[in-house]
Amino acid sequence: MKEITRVVKAYEDAINQNRIVGSQCTSCQDISVPPRPLCKNCGSSEIEITTIEGAGTLLTWTVIHIAPPSHLERVPYILGIVELKNNQKLTGIVELEEGINPDFGMELIADFEEGQEGASRLRWRSRI
Ligand SMILES: [Zn+2]
Repeated sequence: MKEITRVVKAYEDAINQNRIVGSQCTSCQDISVPPRPLCKNCGSSEIEITTIEGAGTLLTWTVIHIAPPSHLERVPYILGIVELKNNQKLTGIVELEEGINPDFGMELIADFEEGQEGASRLRWRSRI
């Protein structure tokens, strides 16, 4: 549990510094995003936190019309699954310019928006 807390904190701290991190296994070099306390490939707990390039492509998405209270003013919004360059996948809100529609394979870049209580939030935007 302590290890899970540690990797979650590493991820949240990185988002607040406008970057994405994952964990890299020091045995087999496998990368997980978000970071995990154990390697998903070989099970090793010897992992290092590593910065991940904030770019990827839109794998799939859905449009949210009924949102939780924290996101009511955002409705409707796009929740996408983004495939990063290392084939890892991250779910997140996708914000596109007016008139641009989501499309399979669309190139996206990570952006960071200041949220409540000063904490940053990851947003995916189209690469122009
Ligand atoms: Zn490993």
